[in-house]
Amino acid sequence: MKIGKLHKDTFKIMKRFHSLDHSMGPLIIVSAFVAGLVPFISIAFSAPILNELINKQYKVAFKYSIIMAVMTCGFGILSEYLNKLVNVRSTALSMKIESMIHEKPLKLDYASVEDGNVIKDFTSAFMALRYKGNYATLLKDYAKLLQNVISFIFAIALTLKLCISDGKSNYTWLNTITSPLFSIMFILIIIILISGVMGKVVKWAQNKISELFEVKLDSEKRFAYLARMIRDEDMVKMVQSYDAEDLVADTFNKTSKLIRKNYKRECTFSNISSVVQAFSSALITVLSYGAVTLKVLANAISLSSFLKYSQAIIKMNEAILNMVSVNEDISEIMVYMNKLMEFLDLENKFETGSIPIEKRSDHEYKFCFEHVWFKYQYNNDYVLKDIYCELNLHEKVGLIGPNGAGKSTFIKLLCRLYEPTKGRITLNGVDIRKYNYDEYLSLFSVVFQDFGLFSFSLGENVASSIDYDQNKVKRCLNKSGLNDFEDKIYENINEVTMISAIGSSGKSEKFSGGEKQKIAIARALYKDAALVILDEPTAALDPLSEYDIYQRFDLLVGDKTCVYISHRMSSCRFCSDIIVLDMGEIVERGNHESLLKEGKLYSEMWNAQAKYYAVN
Ligand code: ADP
Repeated sequence: MKIGKLHKDTFKIMKRFHSLDHSMGPLIIVSAFVAGLVPFISIAFSAPILNELINKQYKVAFKYSIIMAVMTCGFGILSEYLNKLVNVRSTALSMKIESMIHEKPLKLDYASVEDGNVIKDFTSAFMALRYKGNYATLLKDYAKLLQNVISFIFAIALTLKLCISDGKSNYTWLNTITSPLFSIMFILIIIILISGVMGKVVKWAQNKISELFEVKLDSEKRFAYLARMIRDEDMVKMVQSYDAEDLVADTFNKTSKLIRKNYKRECTFSNISSVVQAFSSALITVLSYGAVTLKVLANAISLSSFLKYSQAIIKMNEAILNMVSVNEDISEIMVYMNKLMEFLDLENKFETGSIPIEKRSDHEYKFCFEHVWFKYQYNNDYVLKDIYCELNLHEKVGLIGPNGAGKSTFIKLLCRLYEPTKGRITLNGVDIRKYNYDEYLSLFSVVFQDFGLFSFSLGENVASSIDYDQNKVKRCLNKSGLNDFEDKIYENINEVTMISAIGSSGKSEKFSGGEKQKIAIARALYKDAALVILDEPTAALDPLSEYDIYQRFDLLVGDKTCVYISHRMSSCRFCSDIIVLDMGEIVERGNHESLLKEGKLYSEMWNAQAKYYAVN
């Protein structure tokens, strides 16, 4: 990355996050200035102290030494304090940004979240930053860069003063090689040597480490997956029942071996770079002392300035070396930071209109699919083809069809998780894109098959909120058939956690699959939305519980419109309106009796399953 563009991009990011902590910018500048200044206190005092000592003015020399000690100590402590402050504040800022990044998928439209490439890029960038340094590291690197720029300015000012001092020796050759022209050429050669050659070595080593890092990232991800997996009791159950312990252990060992191997190679490259840096640093120190000695011998500067000028050249070289390497660090962090920024800048593809949703107690909401066609982003084939259907008010609608027919896609479009590729969906005659997005979503209570309960309290799970009405939670749990568990649950509504002990009291309860499904149904009831969508809501229930749910279905959904998705034909029998989907098209529609009479797909599916039921 070009140096100008690199710093322009970095400033853009800093400007963007400036509002999160206004004092960060000034703090970095002050801290860098103080840190850059500290070494020059002793350098500046070295010449007068030596001068006074040579002239046997011990008292004055002592006075200078005390002032130097007090200033070095005072500024040193201040610099340390400011440095700590930068560390703490930048870590806090970095955590705020991490939270922003984590919240982003929750606010992004589902189609983008489901887009594998977006999430893959985001995950890689996020993991990369975890290992390579985050925004806090970027800020600290910037403070370090600034500190070295300040050191360089102080050092170059002193060095230039040294360069322009003319030799007054009796030897002409000595005066020539210590002349301002030769001195400036010498300094320029040193600068070119360090920034050019060293820059290349540092860059080469960092490129090699980066190449390794891409490989390392894959094994780190695998390792993280394995570590997560062995903490998941369901996975452990699976591993033990299939006797797959060796498979897991071997994969673990192989992955860990690969990580170690890459780490060793990374260290080798980093060591090569360090050795070359140390060697050139030593060489430059020798050359600097040599050059300053020649200046003293040529009477261009006094003996007492020897230390001051040689230290100045050394500090200048150090500053260049550090600027080169910090610049490379920043450029590497920015590669990943830019990716994260792209993710943070992703905009919702969905239009959100402004029309509010009328809150109707009579639930008079009429949905209509008007010639809807849909295909997924990376799929050329239409998954839904020319769907035209109205969802009748206050009816129980069954959505039936073989796997892959497009039932879930139909629901995702209805809930605006996706937009139709062609055609439109209307609510009471108005295109749903014209309604306010959040208000539109509030019309639906969906119980998905993979209902996903949170590791929060039972009350929070049912209400999907931190604040909830305890009595309403209990009523909903009761309605969904969890009354057998009164003692177990109701007293602990605020504490029981679903999966692990992260509740405030650390208390946890185990729920069976069926119980969890009932909690998910209670969650849909608590929302009390106008349209209830149940995607195989009884899949995890035993036959008696399933029967119980059907019996109380009217109680559960009341007079609301309800869409019921299932491939279990018997469970849709009570629906007054059944839509049969096949290969993305509506192939039949009617009630159970009329569809049986038609003798097409519905009756075929019914007959295929009916032999397993004791019903006709
Ligand atoms: P059903 O719910 O009837 O089983 P789906 O609506 O889940 O069917 O899927 C319909 C078709 O769309 C299937 O061929 C499935 O492979 C495809 N499909 C589902 N989700 C995606 C997706 N996110 N990206 C690409 N294709 C998908």
